Amino acid sequence: MAEENLRFDGRVAVVTGAGAGLGRAYALLLGSRGASVVVNDLGGSRSGDGKSSNVADQVVQEIKSKGGKAVADYNSVIDGEKIIQTALENFGRIDIVVNNAGILRDKSFARISDSDWNLVHDVHLKGAFKTTQAAWPHLRQQKYGRVIFTASNSGLYGNFGQANYSAAKLGLVGLNNTLAIEGRSSNINCNVIVPTAASRLTEDILPPDLYKELKPELIAPVVVWLCHESCQENGSVIESAAGWASKYALVRSPGKVFRKSITDNASPESVRAAWPEITDVTKRFEHLGSIEEATGSLLTHIESLKSPP
Ligand code: NAD
Repeated sequence: MAEENLRFDGRVAVVTGAGAGLGRAYALLLGSRGASVVVNDLGGSRSGDGKSSNVADQVVQEIKSKGGKAVADYNSVIDGEKIIQTALENFGRIDIVVNNAGILRDKSFARISDSDWNLVHDVHLKGAFKTTQAAWPHLRQQKYGRVIFTASNSGLYGNFGQANYSAAKLGLVGLNNTLAIEGRSSNINCNVIVPTAASRLTEDILPPDLYKELKPELIAPVVVWLCHESCQENGSVIESAAGWASKYALVRSPGKVFRKSITDNASPESVRAAWPEITDVTKRFEHLGSIEEATGSLLTHIESLKSPP
């Protein structure tokens, strides 16, 4: 028997920055699967200047023309509570929050001004905080929710000229880690998408041959799956592009205890001697799934010092 299609009938989704690029693709796919969609977009420039209602209106029209349900919202994500209010006023509930809105203010580190730093953090990190926090009590009360944050390879790996953006994007991974824990008992799953797609943010960054292969529509199915009630993924970072997806994990080397016993002091010289083993992730590495595992591993090292070999 063929598996049923994934549907979102009766569910209400907010997609921020849904007037263009990736957010538009998410909104269109969710709308085509029965979700009522709040198409949020401030409609400003790539660097976050100005505003316009055009892009959000166009996506709403596209969803409606195919028989879907959608409403436009032109607020900045910095006023996230207003966006959630749009969902409640028009559709009476909120189930899914896709934090996607984003801007770039690329400069080499020495040239980043306070406003370049602050606006990038406001849109990406504070915007996701405000929008998600406004939805949170509703998700908890109904014991159901799906939340997506959008990080970037620039945060995971670093990228010249994007110190402000990298910091904000990896901040969202930290936010996701904790919300996945706080939301778990209320059936609120939180995950991070790390996309690579053709959009106005990447048109002058990606090589042209690669650019044309990276359609946002090839990432939307991953995000839409993560938003479905049957998807139990929680607290993960999923990298995706061109119809490929992969779970990203931070790993560490097994490390090295650099004291001989519990009464021995540590010295810079003992650290130096152990440094090749402390920093070697090429032969063996481990992935820790929680802070409890990290604490458990630390206790094991302390115990081993109490009865050295
Ligand atoms: P995009 O510029 O096409 O779309 C971003 C949208 O967000 C725009 O329509 C813009 O008007 C809107 N927006 C900006 N500031 C806003 C605000 N304050 N409030 C509401 N809306 C606002 O770019 P995209 O490539 O589709 O980017 C979507 C997300 O994916 C961003 O968070 C971006 O950082 C992230 N991202 C994209 C790529 C990529 O390869 N395209 C890679 C890594 C991360």
